[in-house]
Amino acid sequence: MSVSPALREKYEAVIGLEVHVQLATRTKIFCACPTGFGAQPNTNVCPVCLGMPGALPVLNKRVVEMAVQAATALNCTVREESIFARKNYFYPDLPKGYQISQYDKPVAEHGFIDIVLPSGDHKRIGVTRAHLEDDAGKSIHDGFRDSDKYTYVDLNRTGTPLIEIVSEPDLRSADEAYAYLTELKLLMQYCDVSTCDMEKGHLRCDANVSVRLRGAPQFGTKAEVKNLNSFRFLKQAIDYEIDRQIELIEGGGRVIQETRLYNPDSGETVSMRSKEAAHDYRYFPEPDLLPLRIGTAWMSEIRGGMPELHPVKRARFITDYGLREYDADVLIQTREMSAYFEEAARVGGDGRTAANWVMGDLAGALKADSKEITESPVSAARLGELIKLIGSGAISGKLAKDIFAKMWTSEDSPEAIMDREGLRQISDTSAIEKILDEVLAANPKQVEQYKGGKTAVAGFLVGQVMKASRGQANPGMVQEMLKAKLS
Ligand SMILES: [Zn+2]
Repeated sequence: MSVSPALREKYEAVIGLEVHVQLATRTKIFCACPTGFGAQPNTNVCPVCLGMPGALPVLNKRVVEMAVQAATALNCTVREESIFARKNYFYPDLPKGYQISQYDKPVAEHGFIDIVLPSGDHKRIGVTRAHLEDDAGKSIHDGFRDSDKYTYVDLNRTGTPLIEIVSEPDLRSADEAYAYLTELKLLMQYCDVSTCDMEKGHLRCDANVSVRLRGAPQFGTKAEVKNLNSFRFLKQAIDYEIDRQIELIEGGGRVIQETRLYNPDSGETVSMRSKEAAHDYRYFPEPDLLPLRIGTAWMSEIRGGMPELHPVKRARFITDYGLREYDADVLIQTREMSAYFEEAARVGGDGRTAANWVMGDLAGALKADSKEITESPVSAARLGELIKLIGSGAISGKLAKDIFAKMWTSEDSPEAIMDREGLRQISDTSAIEKILDEVLAANPKQVEQYKGGKTAVAGFLVGQVMKASRGQANPGMVQEMLKAKLS
């Protein structure tokens, strides 16, 4: 389904995102069960997270610290007092029969995220609120011999801490939603509260989508689209949903408030159920938990321990290392890459060269081996040592590439490889002069051309010297000496 550009122009999409971020604590939010991924089903459970009668929840302190960090990254106000509430619903993977969430007094509210649009323009997107809640278990619909008849339930995830971040309906296109989620993910990764690994469900996103005639004062009726478990699906599902609603309205129909599920195979959203209103959940304050109070002293202690966020890091890379904006943008795309770059730049003493290596040869080698930067056989410090050798003139850029290739398969330092392979750059004047003289004697025609004014031929002669020296002659010196000899 795809409506004409004219129809798209006639309408305006209004989108808000609800993003669930799994907090990277070692234990669950209200009990001491581990949160690890991949354990045998139903082994990381206890009476509290199984909802046994009489078992009482105890709030994990680390969760509160992470919530304050996340709230700070989202420019939110942290409430001095927030209240946990029961959200009641029945579902097989929810053993308690309710989820412990926050309702009218969430831990954080009134924030914003600044995004960069594909056009390069900046836009500020409001963050309505961020609240804490526990996760449900997992229903497993396939993978078993009798999966056609039964659904299995794994409760290991039950009670895993989540922070749900709700945006204002400020987004106007799938591209804006994509940019918002990208930025949100980076903020959560940099403030170290979540891995945001979408494949493992550590970042989950629902989108509220409506359309209205461009310029209309009121919002249209929204549909909530679920199951957007990749950035690509988010974009596809929103685009599909916008077109679906426009077609529906143009055809004389009307959008109903409902929950829809995105099906990545068909690329369509399908109706799942009519949307519950808040009162369907019969929210009431959780009687087993005290109000959460975060005093100013604790708050400033947590904020004082905040890691550097990527917008600050980006600006610092430009001023401290003289990087171009584009390079800084690329290097902050993951926290691991920015840390790797900074270590290589520090050891190598040259930020620009380090940036070129990280984005060029290193990225290429990692890609070829399908490795993450954290698995790089060449550590940041080792790459820094290589950069130092280039800077000192011990090796040329060309030799550095050869040494780098050898570093990939050995643990030796670049200096050891350089000495072992006899790859040290020749910067000795008499040694270079000897090779240069031989090259000039062997190429009288090019020497005549050069003297006749065709100085472009110098490139060829330098190339011959480099070749004769097996790439080891210092190219800068060769150029200088060639010029001096022929003028
Ligand atoms: Zn437990």
